[in-house]
Amino acid sequence: MWNDKRYHTLDYELKKVFGEKAIKLSIDGNFTCPNRDGKISDKGCIFCSERGSGDFTSDRTKTISTQICEQKEFMSKKWVSNTYIAYFQNYTNTYDSVENLRIKFYEALSCPNIKGLAIATRPDCINKEIVELLHEINSKTFLWIELGLQTINEETSMFIRRGYKLAAFDTAVNLLTESNIRVVAHLIIGLPNETKQQILKSAKYIDNLNLWGIKLHMLHILKNTDLEKYFNKNCFHMLSQDEYVDIICDILELLNSNIIIHRLTGDGKKSDLIAPLWSLNKLKVLSEIDRELKYRQSIQGIKSAL
Ligand code: SF4
Repeated sequence: MWNDKRYHTLDYELKKVFGEKAIKLSIDGNFTCPNRDGKISDKGCIFCSERGSGDFTSDRTKTISTQICEQKEFMSKKWVSNTYIAYFQNYTNTYDSVENLRIKFYEALSCPNIKGLAIATRPDCINKEIVELLHEINSKTFLWIELGLQTINEETSMFIRRGYKLAAFDTAVNLLTESNIRVVAHLIIGLPNETKQQILKSAKYIDNLNLWGIKLHMLHILKNTDLEKYFNKNCFHMLSQDEYVDIICDILELLNSNIIIHRLTGDGKKSDLIAPLWSLNKLKVLSEIDRELKYRQSIQGIKSAL
């Protein structure tokens, strides 16, 4: 058990590291994405929102320092702490020259009480030079890198227009872990036409890699995305809350207890969310997951092969 939870939460882990709650501040580093700017494609992933899958960050035209100040102010209404992690969330946050990345990451680190960095990116935007910079930053602060995998199923990855093969993910994971950089994988649960077995296979894959963390998102259909158009035409099966909770509990049982759970639900903007509307009540989803694990008398890792 991790405090009152049956799974290894990020909150638990960061309190252990920093001795108090660490608050994540979402930053828009004003990057773009090779899957949207034409390098790979100009369409983007089928589910990607206008803000590059980061709808709660500040104005991207503001400096990193200003965004951090504003986010601190905003978050202080909810939490009190002196420990902050700057989270580069929108688009692809290693898609730039190493010089520019260095300037942006160090600007964040120079802000008061920023004790770590979280950087979301694509595996095909990780290379040796970037890993050298990340390795340097990792020796000075608490760093983790988030990779948007979503699924290991190549057919689904083509459908969602992810724009890279699973091998690219493996290469990036190897480069990062060889440099002792923490890696978090994102998986989307409920992608069109994926079976429960396929979803569990993706989770098993992460378990075998023994990554530092995982983020699980329910698929969100957001306004003005190509996924919305596809949904309107094809009306594929969206998971009910009960189905989602059941799959999440199965995944938690499969993941070994070292893997830190960064998220168990999605975070869609209410005004943009088309479906599933049940996901807006995050607390209910989380309490249903707790309830189901208790009912099963289960905890994270109970079925892990590691
Ligand atoms: S990689 Fe991220 S930012 Fe780029 S299109 Fe896909 S979801 Fe959007």
